[in-house]
Formats: sequence, structure tokens, C-alpha cells
Amino acid sequence: MKVINNFVLTNYNSYRINAICSKAWFPDNEFELMDVFKRNKKPIILGNGNNIILSKNYYDEEFIVFNGNYNNVNVQENLIVAESGATLLHLSEVALFYNLSGLELFYDIPSSVGGAVVMNAGTKEKEIKDILIKVRYLDLVDMQFKEILKDEIQFEYRNSFFQKNTDKVVIKAWFELQQGDHKVIKSKMEETKRIRWEKQPREYPNCGSVFKRPPGRFVGPMLDELNMKGFAVGGAKISEKHSGFIVNFNNATGNDILAVISEAQRRVKERFNVDLEVEQRVI
Ligand SMILES: Cc1cc2nc3c(=O)[nH]c(=O)nc-3n(C[C@H](O)[C@H](O)[C@H](O)COP(=O)(O)OP(=O)(O)OC[C@H]3O[C@@H](n4cnc5c(N)ncnc54)[C@H](O)[C@@H]3O)c2cc1C
Repeated sequence: MKVINNFVLTNYNSYRINAICSKAWFPDNEFELMDVFKRNKKPIILGNGNNIILSKNYYDEEFIVFNGNYNNVNVQENLIVAESGATLLHLSEVALFYNLSGLELFYDIPSSVGGAVVMNAGTKEKEIKDILIKVRYLDLVDMQFKEILKDEIQFEYRNSFFQKNTDKVVIKAWFELQQGDHKVIKSKMEETKRIRWEKQPREYPNCGSVFKRPPGRFVGPMLDELNMKGFAVGGAKISEKHSGFIVNFNNATGNDILAVISEAQRRVKERFNVDLEVEQRVI
């Protein structure tokens, strides 16, 4: 297992915030993962870092990283079994290779399999729960490997049993897809990506939508009405292209991002009496 002291996290979070942790572990299998937990009190788990805000410059805590490791993917007829570190991009490409349909909308969501299950990643059309069968996880309470069926995972919009129970670590997931036509699957993947890149500020580091969609409302239009496009603190600002995103335009710190968030929440509450809930995980 790769282990790195004083590990630089900049390329491991998509906001590209500069931060260092005292040690990073990159387990290659579930037994190595368990071993790290036996040696450490409470390491921080990182998937692909596409939905996190690093609030500190230096972490005394150690990190367990699923990014480029623990990423095997197996296809059994129309089932795809993937380890936590596999990306949704890779999963979608494997599905395409086997002419399996169901992952097209996830092709462009930057995510590890573990992160996608924890966050119930998705779009308004489809969430990860819609193709998931079951999950294997390490229960840190009794240090046992367990399996849980989709219906027991208490999925909600961008929420799950795993998000509420941080002592359970996702290690593997089973997805059910359908046989489809190669050309149709491919064009749906490409079209999804094209539309998303048109709308999203991909030219700057970001972590996707900052806030959850409040019932009956859309975050972007509320912030637009408040003239908050381009509102900046330090190196972080609300994107001019898509107000639901905060971008790092100039060496932002986690605290710059958090300050932009607080101000947006304050103004939205004052004008619309709506409480904006942050989707991204603050570490
Ligand atoms: C450009 C862009 C577009 C995006 N578009 C979308 C979108 O359309 N829909 C959407 O839902 N999201 C979107 N996101 C957000 C992000 O892609 C998802 O939330 C994604 O699922 C996060 O996965 P990750 O592996 O990066 O998780 P991370 O950011 O690494 O972690 C997220 C949380 O999960 C925990 N975690 C990670 N892996 C595990 C594990 N194996 N076991 C237990 N806990 C774990 C972490 O501790 C953390 O709390 C977007 C992000 C970007 C940058």
C-alpha cells in the first residue's frame, strides 16, 4: 500500500485548495483498508475530492484516499461490480464497451463509486440509487465487512445512510444495467457531457453545485436576483456562468469559499426567507 507523509492535497480536491495532511494512505484492498483503521483513531476518507471543501491548511489527521487505487471493475452479464476508487467516468466507459445502458447520465459526474453512493450523486433525471443493487462496506463499530441492499440505504436527494453514518466505509457497489445499442449509449454520453460543459464553469476549479435545491426553488435564479454573480471573497467567487457554482479563480482558501457561502445564505434568507443547505462536505 502506498503511504505518503505530509501529503499535498491540492490535486486531490477539485477546488484545488492548497492543503497538506500529516499522512495519506492509499489502500489497494479491503484488508489494507481495515488495517489502516486499526492503526488510526479516525482518518478522513477521501474519494475523488469533487464535493469537499478543505477548511484547514494543515491536517494533523491522516487521510485514506480512494483515487487511482482500489478501483477494480467487473462485469457479470448486466451487473457491474465496482470498488470504491473506480470513477463513474471509467464505469460508464466499461458499460459502453459491453453495450450496457444506464450509466450515461453519470458519465460526466466527476466522482468515485464510493463518493457517488455516499452523496447519492445524480441529476434531476436519475440518481445513483436508481441503478444500485447493494453495497459492501466496512463497519468501523465492530470492524466487520457487511453488505446492505439498496432499499436499506435510506437514499434521499444527495443524502444516504452512509452520509449520516460516517463510521461505515463504502468499499464496493453492485449496479444493474440493461443491454443497449452501442451507438445510442455513446451519443447519450456525449450529449450529456456537451450540455453540462455548456452550462458549467469548467474553466475554473470547482466542486459542482454548492447548495442543495430547496423545495420549489432554484438556487441560481435567487442568487442572480440578488446580483451575486461574481461576488468574491479572496480567491473564491460565485461563477458568472452558473450562480449555483463557486469557483476558485485565484488561489482560494477553504475559508474564502466558506465566506462566500455564508454571505449567499445570509442574503437568500433575508430576501426569500429560504435556508440554503450546503451540499458540499466541509472537512
Ligand atoms: C464539475 C462538477 C460537476 C458536478 N456535477 C454533479 C452532478 O451533476 N450531480 C451530483 O450529484 N454531483 C455533482 N458534482 C459533485 C460530485 O461530483 C459528487 O458529489 C460526487 O459523487 C463526489 O464524489 P467523490 O468521489 O469526489 O467524493 P469526495 O468529494 O471525495 O467525498 C464526498 C464525501 O463522501 C465521503 N466518502 C468518499 N468516499 C467514501 C467511501 N468510500 N466511504 C465512505 N465515505 C466516503 C467523503 O468523506 C466526503 O464526506 C459535481 C462536481 C463537479 C466538480
